[in-house]
Amino acid sequence: MTTLSPTVAEAYKLLRTQIYEHLDTAEFLALKDFWSEDDHEALRQLVPDLLQVIRAVWHRHEPNWTGTCRLCLREWPCATARLIHREVMDPENYFTRIHENEG
Ligand SMILES: [Zn+2]
Repeated sequence: MTTLSPTVAEAYKLLRTQIYEHLDTAEFLALKDFWSEDDHEALRQLVPDLLQVIRAVWHRHEPNWTGTCRLCLREWPCATARLIHREVMDPENYFTRIHENEG
C-alpha cells in the first residue's frame, strides 16, 4: 500500500473541502426560511446544475456493450451506479415523490 505524499494529501483535502463548501452553501440557500427574489433565481439555476452533476456521474457509470461499467470497468451496476440509484430512489427522498406525482 502506498501512502500519499503530504503535498498530494493536502491537495486532495482542498478538493474535498471545496466540494463540501459548495454543497453546504447550496443547502443553506435551500433551507432558508425566506427566499428573496435573488434566492429564487439562484435556486432556479442551482437545481438544474445539481441535477446535471447527478446525470454526468450516472452517464459515466453506464454499462458498455459487455455489461461492464464504462468508468469503473467492473460488472454493472458498479458501486457508484448502485449508490446513485439507491439515493435517487430512496422513498424518503423527494425525487421519488415528485416522480410519483408526475405519473
Ligand atoms: Zn462505475
